[in-house]
Amino acid sequence: MAEQREEEMEELQKVKSEAAQIINGCPILPLLIVFDLDYTLWPFFCECYDEDDMPWLYPQARGILCALKDRGIEMAIASRSPASDVAKAFLAKLGIESMFVAQLECWTHKTEHFQRIHDRTGTQFDLMLFFDDENRNIEAITKMGVTCILVNRGLNLEALRQGLTNFSQKSLGMNGKD
Ligand SMILES: [Mg+2]
Repeated sequence: MAEQREEEMEELQKVKSEAAQIINGCPILPLLIVFDLDYTLWPFFCECYDEDDMPWLYPQARGILCALKDRGIEMAIASRSPASDVAKAFLAKLGIESMFVAQLECWTHKTEHFQRIHDRTGTQFDLMLFFDDENRNIEAITKMGVTCILVNRGLNLEALRQGLTNFSQKSLGMNGKD
């Protein structure tokens, strides 16, 4: 058991330092990164569980969140889950609840959620990066001016690299226009 824990810690540190390298390699960073929950940070729908269950994250998610936090990038959650109580309990059990600036609330439409995040943090949409596993969310939020990344197997280092690269390129392109 102790051995397994040690291996997990080693893996966490490895992912965290790889994530830090990716972050350091980007010329322009977003001010705020927003994450969906189900099938983005964790591999399940939380409405299929109850608050007493023990949640788990995608393998590289924690290391990535820690690296972003260390770099001072703000983070928020945008979830359409109908089970917001379970989602909140799971974030607390995972010990990552305090990493997010905007408190979790589940809205009917993600566009409304982004408007709330904007109102609360004062961050412009074009300074945000968003990760989600559903195309309809990606399409709706892209229209608001947010850089959006569709994840296939949850948040991982590859998705982080793609997200930060797309964000940098978009920002540089915008600056080049004027
Ligand atoms: Mg999802």
